[in-house]
Amino acid sequence: MHFELTGEQRDLVARLRDSGPLLSTPDREAGGRSAWETAAKLGVTGLCLPEEHGGGGLGALDTALSFEALAQGGADPGLLFGLAAHLLACGIVLAEHAHGDVRADLVAGLCSGAVVAGNAMTEAQAGSDTSRIATTAVADGDSYLIDGTKSFVSNAGLADVYVTYAMTTPGGGHLGMSAFAVPANLPGVRVAEPLEKLGLTGCAAAVVEFTGCRVPRDHLLGAENAGSGVFAKSMVWERACLPAIFVGVMDHQLRRCVDHVRGRRQFGRRLGDFQAVSHRIAVMKQRLESSRLLMYRACWLIDRDDPGAGAAAALAKAAVAEAAVDNGVDAVKVFGARGYLAADGIGQQLLDALPLHIFSGTTDIQRELVVKGLGI
Ligand SMILES: Cc1cc2nc3c(=O)[nH]c(=O)nc-3n(C[C@H](O)[C@H](O)[C@H](O)COP(=O)(O)OP(=O)(O)OC[C@H]3O[C@@H](n4cnc5c(N)ncnc54)[C@H](O)[C@@H]3O)c2cc1C
Repeated sequence: MHFELTGEQRDLVARLRDSGPLLSTPDREAGGRSAWETAAKLGVTGLCLPEEHGGGGLGALDTALSFEALAQGGADPGLLFGLAAHLLACGIVLAEHAHGDVRADLVAGLCSGAVVAGNAMTEAQAGSDTSRIATTAVADGDSYLIDGTKSFVSNAGLADVYVTYAMTTPGGGHLGMSAFAVPANLPGVRVAEPLEKLGLTGCAAAVVEFTGCRVPRDHLLGAENAGSGVFAKSMVWERACLPAIFVGVMDHQLRRCVDHVRGRRQFGRRLGDFQAVSHRIAVMKQRLESSRLLMYRACWLIDRDDPGAGAAAALAKAAVAEAAVDNGVDAVKVFGARGYLAADGIGQQLLDALPLHIFSGTTDIQRELVVKGLGI
C-alpha cells in the first residue's frame, strides 16, 4: 500500500487546480453554455469517457482527483455538480450501454461538450424507492412511447439528452424498468420552470415531462427490463467520484479557517490560541482526511472491478456527506458573524453541502447498502 500520486496524477491535479478559476462563474441564463465550453476545452466534459470518442479515458480515482482539484482551485461547485451528473450518471451509462451509432454520436458529443446530458430517474412518488417509478415506455413498432414526469432533473433545460428510466413491464419493480437516451428536442419532451434551490445554484434543475414521446428503439440503453442494473452501476461511479467536489471545497475551506484563526485576535490573543477553536479545526481536518481516504479507496476498488466497490462507494459518500455538512457548520462558527454573510461564501458552502445527504441516494440508503455489504 502506498499513498503517493504518480507523476501523471500530480500533473493532472496541478493542471486542473490551476484551471479552477476559469470555471468559477457558472452560466446563469437558461441555455447559457460558455462555462460548459470552457470545461470542454479543459477536457472535463469527457474525463472518464472512452478515448476513442475524444474522452480522457480516466478511471474512477483519476476522475475523483480531477473534480477535487477543480474544486480546490475555486471552480463553482454547482457547475462541477452539473458536469459530474453529465459524466457519471449519464456518460458512464451511454458509453457502456448505448448501441452503435447512437453510442458513438452521443459519447463523442458529451466529450466535446456539444451534447449536455441529464439524468431522469426521480419522480414525485418515487425518490429512494426507484422500483416504484410510474413513467412507462410502451413498445410501438420501431419505437417506444414514453409517458411520465420526472421531478428533479439536474442540467434540465441545458441538457440535449436525458438518460431516462421508464417501466417497460409496469408492476415489475426493479425487473421491469428500462433505460433510454431521450433527445431533448423530441416532440413530447417539456422542461418545466427551473426549481429554485438553496445551493449548488450553478446547476439548473427542473421537472421534465414526457408526453407520448416517441423514442427510436435503438435509443434503448442495455437490454429491455435491465434498466435497474444500468442505474445501479452509474450510481456506484457517482457515489464514489462526485463527492470529490465537496472534498475539494472542504480542503479550501479548511485553509481559509486556518488563515482566519491565525490572523484574527480577540481578548488580546489569536483565535487559534483558544483550544476550543484550534481543536474545532483539528476535528475538521480529521473529517476531511478520513472521508477523502474512504473516497480514494472506493474509487480504487472501482478501478480494480472489485465486487466490494458498491458498498465502499456507499460508505465513502456517507462519510463525505457528514464531513462536508459538519465542517460547513464549524466553518461558520470559526468565522463568527462573517460566516453568515453571503459575500464571504462560508455559509453558502454549508447550503451547497446539505444535499450531499440526499442526491445519488440518501445517507440512510447508503447505510442500507453498507449493511447489505456486511451480509446482515
Ligand atoms: C441537488 C439535487 C440534485 C438531484 N439531481 C437529480 C437528478 O439529476 N436526477 C434525478 O433523477 N434525481 C435527482 N435528485 C433527486 C434525488 O435522487 C432524490 O431526492 C433522492 O433519491 C431522495 O428521494 P426523495 O427526495 O424523494 O426522498 P424520500 O425517498 O422521500 O426520502 C425522505 C427521507 O426518508 C428516508 N428514507 C426513505 N426510504 C428509506 C429507507 N428504506 N430506509 C431508511 N430511510 C429511508 C430518506 O433517507 C430521507 O431521509 C436530486 C436531488 C437533489 C437534492
